[in-house]
Amino acid sequence: AAKHAGRHQYCFFRQELKSQLQDHLMVLQGIDAAISESQLFLEYQPIFDLQTNQISGGEALIRWNHPEYGLIPPGRFIPIVEDSDRIEALTLWVMECSCRALRQHILPQMPDFKLSLNVSGVALQSDRLRDGILEILLRERVPPRNLRIEITETTMMRNIEKCAETLQHWQNAGLRVLIDDFGTGYSSLSYLTTLPIDGLKVDRSFISNQLPGSYCPVVEAILALSKSLGIQSIAEGVETESQLQALREMKATHAQGYLLGRPMALDKLLERLGEVEVG
Ligand code: C2E
Ligand code: MG
Ligand code: MG
Ligand code: MG
Repeated sequence: AAKHAGRHQYCFFRQELKSQLQDHLMVLQGIDAAISESQLFLEYQPIFDLQTNQISGGEALIRWNHPEYGLIPPGRFIPIVEDSDRIEALTLWVMECSCRALRQHILPQMPDFKLSLNVSGVALQSDRLRDGILEILLRERVPPRNLRIEITETTMMRNIEKCAETLQHWQNAGLRVLIDDFGTGYSSLSYLTTLPIDGLKVDRSFISNQLPGSYCPVVEAILALSKSLGIQSIAEGVETESQLQALREMKATHAQGYLLGRPMALDKLLERLGEVEVG
């Protein structure tokens, strides 16, 4: 295609390819050091119960503070790590860090807090990861009901049978499983009745595409679907009051987004948990 395109487009394409290759090299060469030298850290974004208007849990989101390139967002390195065997080590690091935060800091303040972790469906193919997650849970003495595993449809579809096996194994151990970015995977809905799933996260594209004050049929359909399956739903990416209002009218039960709280450091989250509502 580049051959037929104009000179500018060709250069742009080369530029793009070059930076993609550089990203790949930078990520794969640096990820081991990132894990062992504490360049990775987690931020926590609160999730709200819309009935009580209180924080009911949060999502752990990984960040990489690279010694040379500075802060790298997960969207730039996770897909690359996912295609390598390092995804296992990264996922176990996230699990360990989250469990420590829960046991040492969050649960003493709020015993019901539900912490969500993102786990790539690709990592679910590994038996070592399957068992490693449960070992950390036991070792860190975190009650499984305080943890939730978020998995995107798209990464699961690469090997659905194996994913189902791992999810079942985790669910038997008491862990809860949520489907992340629900509605963006172009996949059949049949897996919803065969996989052990405890909830759906409504992708933020459906929330943000919604016009102010209008009703969104896709969001409403996903909320109805989770209701009839008897599972939870969490609306992601709530940025405005009118989106929140529309979600309330549609009887959404949980929401997350910049309006309610940005991803933040653990001590900021603890501060927010400690704030008592007045009036
Ligand atoms: P996700 O799991 O769907 O996480 C939600 C993303 O939306 C986060 O981006 C969050 O910061 C952002 N977000 C939250 N509220 C709003 C909002 O109101 N507006 C907008 N525009 N964005 C909002 P982030 O932290 O950059 O993470 C991007 C993706 O990277 C995540 O999407 C997840 O798929 C992946 N990721 C993050 N941490 C991990 C991890 O520890 N392991 C794995 N495997 N993937 C991770
Ligand atoms: Mg997520
Ligand atoms: Mg999501
Ligand atoms: Mg996402």
